[in-house]
Amino acid sequence: MRRIAVLGATGSIGRSTLDVIQRHPDRYQVTLLSAHRSVDDMEVLCRAHQPTHAVMGDPDAAAALAERLTDLSAVTVESGAAFLDDLVAEPNVDSVVAGIVGFAGLRPTLSAARAGKTILLANKEALVSAGGLFMETVRQGGATLLPVDSEHNAMHQCLPVASDGRPDMVDVEKIILTASGGPFRGRSRSSLDAVTPAEACAHPNWSMGQKISVDSATLANKGLELAEACWLFDRSPDEIEIVVHPQSIVHSMIRYRDGSVLAQLGQPDMRTPIAYCLAWPERVDAGVEALDIVSAGRLDFEAPDLEAFPCLALAQWAISQPGGMCVFSAANEIAVAAFLSGEIRFTDIHKVIDAALKATDLAEPDSLDAVQALDQKAREAAQESIASGLTRSGS
Ligand code: NAD
Ligand code: MG
Repeated sequence: MRRIAVLGATGSIGRSTLDVIQRHPDRYQVTLLSAHRSVDDMEVLCRAHQPTHAVMGDPDAAAALAERLTDLSAVTVESGAAFLDDLVAEPNVDSVVAGIVGFAGLRPTLSAARAGKTILLANKEALVSAGGLFMETVRQGGATLLPVDSEHNAMHQCLPVASDGRPDMVDVEKIILTASGGPFRGRSRSSLDAVTPAEACAHPNWSMGQKISVDSATLANKGLELAEACWLFDRSPDEIEIVVHPQSIVHSMIRYRDGSVLAQLGQPDMRTPIAYCLAWPERVDAGVEALDIVSAGRLDFEAPDLEAFPCLALAQWAISQPGGMCVFSAANEIAVAAFLSGEIRFTDIHKVIDAALKATDLAEPDSLDAVQALDQKAREAAQESIASGLTRSGS
């Protein structure tokens, strides 16, 4: 029986994880659930999964949840990030699903790494922001790091992997990272000025949380994933090729030195990579409909349009700068929130990130304090650029 902590339980990744877990009560037991402030959803999840602990980021939400669960004496409700950091490291947790969105997921994920847990990593912003520090913490803690992100999960599946989960890259020539292209694939930059949050969140293939949906529409997500792949597979950006594949059936590929290219195919359903990580190195039923390759019909591939989607080009530059992706990711979080609340246009997102990269002193953060300080500076620079209206001038 593996004991699982699901961070971000009420989100898209959290729900997909709990769906897979529910299919295998003989293998998995949920011991910890966490969410930010959705009390109604958490009440339902706590009743269904009966974790030992439920942690709400928001104190008022924690108080409300505790009130609702007075009849469930087995579930202790806690509030705040510090509790989460401690609880993921407890001996009653074997695997931690890092499903919180954004930088907020960094601390508990690092805590799980320090405690040597198996980490099922969806929260790419944590890895991208803390980079070398994150990977070193995993190594020192003796943790096992398994990628949930579908592309990186595909890469992991196409590589020989050691018993500690680490991939063997010795014969690899190139990683081919696929991108769906998002809802605006094929559109010109000038046609994107007036797109709405609802249009940006309407992903053609995947159903996901709002932030990653917008990131997929700007291709900032592919920039984050490029950095994610560099860290997970110890590659430089020029050893990773980004290819747009609109059907989202091939989830990424590995090209070996003998010319072989291995691809992982599957439905665009996160339950497959989640089930792979939960059961690794075994396989379990994920509840995913079988892929019908004949009805899928065709697999297309094309180069990404960096002119229409400048966030990807910006990420490719930022990766080469010390601390650059920490600033990119923080500024992107601020810009996406501002776009979703109607403060800025879709085409302003890359300008906010660009302004933050220019306004922040870039340096490689070598401690958690340094990562948090750099993230904070980037957020302030991004807010400032939005407040000053700079993003509205020119393109
Ligand atoms: P989501 O918005 O659906 O869910 C986010 C979860 O995080 C919620 O449970 C929310 O309560 C919690 N949360 C948000 N802010 C928090 C805070 N400050 N403190 C504590 N908890 C907080 O997001 P999602 O789509 O499930 O994405 C989660 C992560 O997984 C992201 O990093 C995303 O990039 C990554 N990811 C998602 C998908 C997908 O298909 N959804 C695929 C690949 C990677
Ligand atoms: Mg992905």
